Amino acid sequence: MNIHEYQAKQLLARHGVAVPAGEPCKTVDEARSVAERLLAAGHSTLVIKSQIHAGGRGKGTFKHGFHGGVKLARSLAEAVDIAGNMLGKTLVTKQTGPDGRVVQTLLVAAAETIVREFYLAVLLDRATSRPLIMASTEGGMDIEEVAARTPEKIVREHVDPAVGLMPYQARKVASALGLKGDLFNQACKLVAAVYKAWWECDASLVEINPLCIVEGPGGKQAIVAVDAKVGLDDNALFRHPDIAAMRDLGEESPLEVEASRHALNYIKLEGNIACLVNGAGLAMGTMDIIKHYGGDPANFLDVCGGASKDQVSAAFRIILSDPSVKGILVNIFGGIMDCNVIATGIVEAVRETGLSIPLVVRLEGNNVQAGKKTLADSGLTITSGDSMADAAQKIVRAVRAA
Ligand code: GDP
Ligand code: MG
Repeated sequence: MNIHEYQAKQLLARHGVAVPAGEPCKTVDEARSVAERLLAAGHSTLVIKSQIHAGGRGKGTFKHGFHGGVKLARSLAEAVDIAGNMLGKTLVTKQTGPDGRVVQTLLVAAAETIVREFYLAVLLDRATSRPLIMASTEGGMDIEEVAARTPEKIVREHVDPAVGLMPYQARKVASALGLKGDLFNQACKLVAAVYKAWWECDASLVEINPLCIVEGPGGKQAIVAVDAKVGLDDNALFRHPDIAAMRDLGEESPLEVEASRHALNYIKLEGNIACLVNGAGLAMGTMDIIKHYGGDPANFLDVCGGASKDQVSAAFRIILSDPSVKGILVNIFGGIMDCNVIATGIVEAVRETGLSIPLVVRLEGNNVQAGKKTLADSGLTITSGDSMADAAQKIVRAVRAA
């Protein structure tokens, strides 16, 4: 699960990371009152930030021509004008794809006077199965580009999860950022706090880009998280009801939201052959074999072993409501799964919604005879596949012919 920048900053602040003063807003009126409060508190410049689950907002453009999803405002009138140009409007960035995202929430915050920008992240390194701290002096820009062009400018520090982050490791990161004196000490504390936040929230990623040296009143410098991105491990969310409540369904694909309501593992993809499979491994294999025979899967869908008839028909309805789907491959190897439950669920869903595209079904295993009989008796036009390879070739051919 992903959360918004303002929520990520709330989590980081709880763990002792310094973040700029600011509040989320849903309307221009709310933005106006937050801006008024911040200006009254003595902040002379504000920053208005579009809250979408995608980065690259600063350099993004709204579909109505307004430039920048992150803008500085030097007066109340300017803040209100910017808020009006962002709320309810579609922002296109490098990460949103051409469709962009509608901005439903803004973060109105005190703008910092930035002296230097760094990059700092904690993530899980799958290659070593360990937490990894990544830091760079090249902050504020695309880290992928830094990694491609000047990989030596990224420092990596692996953490032993059984021991936790050692103080010398935080010092190593702070030193790699070229920090000295008080800023060095602040950075050590901050790295430890960010790591702790990552660990305690069961996050998959905490990324601060930019992490900034900022100048406060009287020229005093401090280290502040000016941007923040947090990704969470869905499998650990049950341990964090407060974080689970941060979920913004408006930022997720509607079909994926519907699937999660039925406890289905569904991920929408770019292709046109939908698949309904039991078991994640078989679902991956099914996508591979569709590709192998020249087709393109429209989704990943794992109806788990113990799925009910209702879950199966919900899965089928979800598949059918994706307009890019031109054919369906059902691939079931029933171990725990009863093939007749699958068959009954499919027939029920098709009776409700109709079926105008090719459907190839490969059923094998537990109660397969009853399942095949249910499909045969339904009167639906179904092509049966004798094996996974046969079924994949049949659906690819049928979609091509259509
Ligand atoms: P992103 O483009 O989605 O990564 O959004 P960011 O929050 O990183 O903002 C983009 C850029 O706007 C940052 O790299 C900063 O240079 C600038 N920016 C954001 N907040 C502030 C601020 O408080 N003060 C100043 N001067 N610039 C800011
Ligand atoms: Mg950023």
